[in-house]
Amino acid sequence: MTKIIALTNQKGGVGKTTTAVNLAASLAALDRRVLLVDLDPQGHATMGSGADKHELDGSALDVLLGDKRAAEVILDCPEAGYALLPGNADLTAAEVDLLDRDGRERCLNDALAEVAHEYDVVLIDCPPSLNMLTLNGLTAAHGVLIPLQCEFYALEGLSALLDTVEQIQASVNPTLQVFGIVRTMYDNRNSLTRDVSKQLLDYFGDTLLKTTIPRNVRVAEAPSHGLPVTKYARFSRGSQAHRVLAKELIRRLSL
Ligand code: ADP
Ligand code: MG
Repeated sequence: MTKIIALTNQKGGVGKTTTAVNLAASLAALDRRVLLVDLDPQGHATMGSGADKHELDGSALDVLLGDKRAAEVILDCPEAGYALLPGNADLTAAEVDLLDRDGRERCLNDALAEVAHEYDVVLIDCPPSLNMLTLNGLTAAHGVLIPLQCEFYALEGLSALLDTVEQIQASVNPTLQVFGIVRTMYDNRNSLTRDVSKQLLDYFGDTLLKTTIPRNVRVAEAPSHGLPVTKYARFSRGSQAHRVLAKELIRRLSL
């Protein structure tokens, strides 16, 4: 069964897109059929997968609006190893364009229904806010994966996000789960990181994934080459950590 996973955190810069791209590539390298959906108008997952967000024939917006079918818009990213439903600045129109539609939070869910069976895993890279795009991501998903940087305000944002997940469970997507929290840009030498990490473990237990993604310069460089770090610098710490994360999720979610 296909697993649809939304990478969500309304905070920007926590590693959603980085985790989405590198997890997609790592799962693909482990022979999983992967579709990455870029729901962020910034289009960083699109660029990071080697596609040009300025030269798209169609984007996730066309699919959300029902103007194009997902299969028409999905691109093959041979270097990265997975398929991409690309996004770009056009997506900023979604908020207004979807406003007066019935079932506006289900548009992505309905569009993916036609293609999801072709993949083992669908990863959805959400924008850094709890807007209509994110709501579509959470409605389409079986579960959320929450990338989180272990810093002082991290926990505050997390409770707002978990409230949103509960609201969605109570309304449009009763079976939505929290698949895991992944610590990104992790530096074990930093005492604040260790403190926040301990609080997360005490509070969330098993929901906190064991794998941590270290801060690693190769991870930050890879997108400028249009490649996941697992292709750009295979033997870097960042690349290896994403491979370990993929294996942890494969075990945990039976992917
Ligand atoms: P988000 O999608 O949550 O806004 P990004 O994935 O775009 O966050 O990451 C924010 C910034 O941090 C980017 O410049 C990215 O290259 C950098 N970054 C993310 N993860 C790492 C890491 N493990 N090591 C070094 N830099 C990272
Ligand atoms: Mg992002």
